[in-house]
Amino acid sequence: MSPSETIISISSLSKQFSGGLKAVDNISLDIKSGEFFALLGPSGCGKTTLLRMLAGLEVPSEGQVRLDGQDMTYTPPNKRPLNMVFQSYAVFPHMSVEDNVSYGLKMEKGSADEIRSRVSDALEQVQLAGFAQAMPHTLSGGQRQRVALARALVKQPKVLLLDEPLSALDAKLREAMQNELVRLQKSVGITFIFVTHDQSEALTMASRIAVMNKGRIVQTAPPHELYEKPASRFVADFIGKMNFLSGRITMSASDGLAICELAAGQKIQVRTDETEGRSVTVGIRPERLRLSVAGSDTDTQTSLEGQLEMVSYHGTEHRAHIRADDGTELIVSIPNAEAAAIQAHSYGERLRVEWDISDARIFAEQDS
Ligand code: ATP
Repeated sequence: MSPSETIISISSLSKQFSGGLKAVDNISLDIKSGEFFALLGPSGCGKTTLLRMLAGLEVPSEGQVRLDGQDMTYTPPNKRPLNMVFQSYAVFPHMSVEDNVSYGLKMEKGSADEIRSRVSDALEQVQLAGFAQAMPHTLSGGQRQRVALARALVKQPKVLLLDEPLSALDAKLREAMQNELVRLQKSVGITFIFVTHDQSEALTMASRIAVMNKGRIVQTAPPHELYEKPASRFVADFIGKMNFLSGRITMSASDGLAICELAAGQKIQVRTDETEGRSVTVGIRPERLRLSVAGSDTDTQTSLEGQLEMVSYHGTEHRAHIRADDGTELIVSIPNAEAAAIQAHSYGERLRVEWDISDARIFAEQDS
């Protein structure tokens, strides 16, 4: 199968639990073969319900799921060409690693030699060659997790569904396993779809991310596009850090340039198609802001003045906290090498915060 083929096609899919709101609300989405796809969103947004409908563990209220070209909306889980790995990484404690991994193959026809060889391939894929006879209690958490992965991979599914697969691990092991999963997915070439509420995990691992909110997909894009071009304030807020300024368009021109008046009366220039009178939110990433001395000769149309409230240290960078005249706090990332110059200013001093017009994203107020 070529990487550009659609392996999963979801159309107008909804799930309404009895007496509840729609957990999944009219979702349509195509996932291509070989993608490492993330479903990302806050708790309760419907990620797990969507994944469970793909697995066949939940029956949709409406819509269709096609897997590899076949309508499988109502096909039982064991008849679908996919496998699921759960949060808990449950393995059978009384069985050896080999027996755990071969368990899923028991129902399939095949000689003992063939099964042994498939199990050994799967263990190699998850870097557990040599552990076939080990018992689960002798393994670390990360190794037990690999056993669960091998058990899913040994069935050679076309798609692997992973529900918050790393949430039970501590931070260090989690990071190691993130890299491991990316490497594994590349080497086996199987489509991975994983659910997470952790934006940095999704950005690190996925080739494409669907951001969900309240049962709907609000944006689907590769990680860098979600970060650089969030389609709404919700996405901008959920992915990374962003400063927000509220204002109203007071003058717009046909060339896409407009004037936005902020709450305290300052006027800034923005690039937007929004028309006069519209309330908007201007979003700028902390690393796109620059600081200079107030009153300096800069393009005042894409800058604001404010008071330096504090400079905080975050290991890989410093952050200057500036209180703008309308009361908004602006966070400016300062590379550690430039921190001494900022720290030379006293707290309470007025500074100018500048940005490039192309770094300011404009969100219409009703965007969710
Ligand atoms: P989390 O990250 O917290 O697991 P999620 O994004 O995976 O959240 P879901 O578990 O899919 O969200 O839940 C979406 C909504 O559906 C929630 O409001 C939840 O309470 C509700 N829900 C989920 N399963 C059921 C069920 N079996 N019966 C009734 N309501 C349910």
